[in-house]
Amino acid sequence: VPTGTPGAEAFVQIWERGRREHPLDRALTILSVLSGHPRQELAALSVERRDQLLLAWRSHLFGPTMAAVATCPRCECAVDVSLATEGPEAFGEDRFAVAVAGLSMMVRMPTSLDLAAAAATTDVESARRLLVRRCLEGVTGPAGLYEPDGPDEPAGLHEQDELYELDELARRDEVIAAVESELDRRAGVSAGAVRLTCPDCAEQWALELDVGAFMYREIEILSTRLLRSVDVLARRYGWSEAEILALSADRRSFYLELAS
Ligand SMILES: [Zn+2]
Repeated sequence: VPTGTPGAEAFVQIWERGRREHPLDRALTILSVLSGHPRQELAALSVERRDQLLLAWRSHLFGPTMAAVATCPRCECAVDVSLATEGPEAFGEDRFAVAVAGLSMMVRMPTSLDLAAAAATTDVESARRLLVRRCLEGVTGPAGLYEPDGPDEPAGLHEQDELYELDELARRDEVIAAVESELDRRAGVSAGAVRLTCPDCAEQWALELDVGAFMYREIEILSTRLLRSVDVLARRYGWSEAEILALSADRRSFYLELAS
């Protein structure tokens, strides 16, 4: 739960670190600087939870609506998009069962680490397979089918069998399709698509909306404005960057008005 107001320095830090980062890392940078939680901990959250946290911070810092302008793909007219960031968005389960071909598979929602691993593959097909394999945590079948052979079985063997079994399953098209559709169905804010209708030509389309990318852009605008005010005030009063960023927003804008 977001609390407190981060200082100007926090926004500049996010912008500075994020400039050279992959979008997946940027989302984690935003959350770790704002919340103070370790990056590794945040990377292990499902991306659904990560995006819900980002939205909560977004709403805490910048208010309850996200405004953007989209362009109609058909008539190219500008369409205003206004999205509520506050809502009764319920946290779904991070782990759930998916039934395929008489088997019940335990699946978890993908994390930032899973997406980073999938992004590192060379093609879309390998990325899909790797993601499904990583999110597949276990399988149970009709009685006996995937049970250990018996009490004499050496310790650890069953675990290896099951890993082998999961590798096999994750290569089957029907398994991939079933797991993917369930992950899609359960993705809320992280699905990132907003349905839009053009007011002029009634064209309908889905706008891709990545919460982390949207927020990074807002923070980028905010921090470049902060750095411009550092430039103006440092010239005028000779204060250091740290001193100027540490001023309250009210004092900073008051001095900026005097300086201009
Ligand atoms: Zn249109």
